[in-house]
Amino acid sequence: MSDVLEYDVLVIGAGPAGSTAARYAAKNGAKTLVIEKRQEIGSPVRCGEGVSLSWLEELEIKEYKKWTATNVKGARLYSPAGNILQITEKMAGDEVGVVCERDAFDKDMARLAVEAGADFMMKTTAVSLIKEEGKVCGVKARSMGKEIEIRANLVIGADGFESQVGRWAGIYDAIPPEDIMTCFQYRMAGIDFDPDYTHFYMGSSAPGGYVWVFPKGDGIANVGLGVQLSMLDGSKAPKDYLDEFISSHEQFKDGEPIDMVAGAVAVTHPPEKVTTDGLLLVGDASRVVDPMTGGGIVNGMKQGKIAGEFAAKCVSEGRFDQEYLEGYEKEWRDRLENKLWRNYLAKEKATQLSDEIFDKVIDALSELKLGEVSIGAILEGVKEKYPELIEEFQDML
Ligand SMILES: Cc1cc2nc3c(=O)[nH]c(=O)nc-3n(C[C@H](O)[C@H](O)[C@H](O)COP(=O)(O)OP(=O)(O)OC[C@H]3O[C@@H](n4cnc5c(N)ncnc54)[C@H](O)[C@@H]3O)c2cc1C
Repeated sequence: MSDVLEYDVLVIGAGPAGSTAARYAAKNGAKTLVIEKRQEIGSPVRCGEGVSLSWLEELEIKEYKKWTATNVKGARLYSPAGNILQITEKMAGDEVGVVCERDAFDKDMARLAVEAGADFMMKTTAVSLIKEEGKVCGVKARSMGKEIEIRANLVIGADGFESQVGRWAGIYDAIPPEDIMTCFQYRMAGIDFDPDYTHFYMGSSAPGGYVWVFPKGDGIANVGLGVQLSMLDGSKAPKDYLDEFISSHEQFKDGEPIDMVAGAVAVTHPPEKVTTDGLLLVGDASRVVDPMTGGGIVNGMKQGKIAGEFAAKCVSEGRFDQEYLEGYEKEWRDRLENKLWRNYLAKEKATQLSDEIFDKVIDALSELKLGEVSIGAILEGVKEKYPELIEEFQDML
């Protein structure tokens, strides 16, 4: 007979989305447990670690310096021929801010959940859903080598890009290869670059994606790239593209890697639903990564807050059915979905652009004083200098 635990809300995965959902569920009165399969929250790090700071107030976070490696003033975008567009934090809205220490960041988000009253179990892996009369009512899990059952009125799947929970619940199928960015990153020491900026290199050095250089202080940076999975023909892996990029750039070629990570990000549109009877998804598991940037931390946490507050409402109303969970779908979609769709369409376009077009677009924009970086402002800028390109972007208008 396996041990049985009982909770109002069970969160699977202690990433930023799961910890935030747990924090707001517990804060609003739900008896909440988070299970995490790893032995340490946030480690090993599989992330570029770039986050904005514009969401701190919304997420009621007062202290950010303890997980900040570097404050950046903005971002620089490089075209293949070396044209540069400099974007200040104000212009970029949500996309720049700090480069964080992701392991410390994730632990801090977990701490906030604990302080709000959530329980945590480490080295505890959900292995299947328990369903009764079609409704999810808990999970079977392996905890420190022991089989256990955790019963909950609401299960929150926050298990990241490779979410099993979403599949077990029958919510979605595999992501198409055009919507997967395969990533490879070195942490490099001994490189020469401006540490006040995040740097993005566009074009064929990272087919369907981009190369990023995110400063971590003391001549160290995360130097990584994402390549669209469908653009890999088997002759080169993402690591080969990154090695080529590094060896062809003076400022990076004498640096040395002190860490490396591989991973993937879903740069897809939001699925039709992320809920079923007794269960909802948040974060990467619900595919809310920004399809243009590949950044998922902030969207996952904003959605996590909505999920946690809604979960507590489910508990106080005693309603966990899909019809009631439509309220969660509505709230998170009202908050995030428009931008996700807009950036998905922009990504679809950007992945088709040639190096020559990137050169022209960045050249045109570098001469403008952009108030903010929006698709409208970019198109206006391009139209002025290279009117012949507007046909290329007609469908986006
Ligand atoms: C190379 C790379 C670079 C990136 N760079 C950035 C960046 O610079 N900025 C940015 O915003 N985003 C970036 N991202 C994306 C970002 O890392 C994710 O969007 C973010 O981590 C999503 O948070 P989450 O809480 O949804 O999931 P995760 O952080 O993936 O957390 C999921 C958790 O669930 C746990 N888990 C999984 N299955 C189970 C199970 N069965 N039982 C128990 N626990 C389970 C996992 O161990 C994990 O701790 C990057 C991603 C990659 C791969």
